[in-house]
Amino acid sequence: MNEIIYFDNAATTPIRPEVYDAIRPYIESCYGNPSSVYKLARESKKAVDLARKQVADAINADSGEIFFTGCGSESDNWAIKGVALALKDKGKHIITTNIEHHAILHTCEFLEENGYEVTYIPVDEYGMVSADDIKKAIRPDTILVSVMTANNEIGTIEPIKEIGAVCREKGVYFHTDAVQAVGHIKIDVKEMNIDLLSLSGHKIGAPKGIGALYIKKGVKIKNLIHGGQQEKGKRAGTENVIGIAALGKAIELAVSEMEDTTERLKYLRDKIINGVLKNIEYSRLNGHPEERLPGNVNISFEFIEGESMLLMLDAKGICASSGSACTSGSLDPSHVLLAIGLPHEKAHGSLRISLGYQNTEEEVDKLLEVLPPIVQRLREMSPLYEMKK
Ligand code: PLP
Repeated sequence: MNEIIYFDNAATTPIRPEVYDAIRPYIESCYGNPSSVYKLARESKKAVDLARKQVADAINADSGEIFFTGCGSESDNWAIKGVALALKDKGKHIITTNIEHHAILHTCEFLEENGYEVTYIPVDEYGMVSADDIKKAIRPDTILVSVMTANNEIGTIEPIKEIGAVCREKGVYFHTDAVQAVGHIKIDVKEMNIDLLSLSGHKIGAPKGIGALYIKKGVKIKNLIHGGQQEKGKRAGTENVIGIAALGKAIELAVSEMEDTTERLKYLRDKIINGVLKNIEYSRLNGHPEERLPGNVNISFEFIEGESMLLMLDAKGICASSGSACTSGSLDPSHVLLAIGLPHEKAHGSLRISLGYQNTEEEVDKLLEVLPPIVQRLREMSPLYEMKK
């Protein structure tokens, strides 16, 4: 068994060995700028073209509809701000949900400070968004709907195809943040009626610092990054050839292995969920029982702090999370857990285990062995637990 048990794959993933092999030439010798004309540069250009096709194929898009960015957050910013600016004469109303990643929520807040209006659709107790609620919220001045494909904290998979159909019917652009979904569940932008889709490399075995935005042909969008003519004049900046080649390889691998990985991860996920709920009292599963990412477990434990649990797991060599990676370091309870109706104290005691292709049953068994005594020790320090007993 590895010394470290890594159960935080929703925060980021290790670079896959096959990805490392694929990018080695661009790290070591093929350093040409894809915009230059000589052979060395053409090698880089070829790598970018191949990756664009690999990403397009993974989501059933055309290569010309894929634009590389610096990360998932940039893709989200570009989709929302770019459409808001392009369609400002048509309207200034945007619809999203209250469980989105901060890359969406903070972008929407920025637009609100700049004269736009945003409707935040609430979710049900499982974190599920209703397509009907979206439909009711669409107004004549609505220009964009943005709903994440799957939630990064509780793993709930949203009814994207239905929401996309509502947007098509109403003639409103539909963006989805698929950063946690791409490579983990099947995505088909055509079948799912998606106009814009954000994805990120470091969640699927590529390095950090590479993302992409799918922009359906004909969608009106302004640039976020201005400068040179890279990415067909839509996203300036010399291409991150290493990151792009890595993303292409990683997404191709993830999609080709998806069926097997899904089956294996669902087995491990359910083993953790059932094991924990059965053996630890006052625990509850957060997120949808069935419509959830194959690798996501999110459980709240009453009477304890998630952060303390993380430190004690870390001492045993286990990496996990108590919310989204981006909010760790903050003591505010997760906005997602509050949105599904958890009171503050239960939201504070949550643990997210996010599995990756590399996790094994042995690692899961180790977690199931060490977690109950950790929870017990922390509860013994809790006056509330004493009172409950
Ligand atoms: N959207 C979701 C749902 C995420 O989970 C994340 C990262 O955790 C992002 C966007 C941001 O992606 P990146 O880290 O590539 O900026």
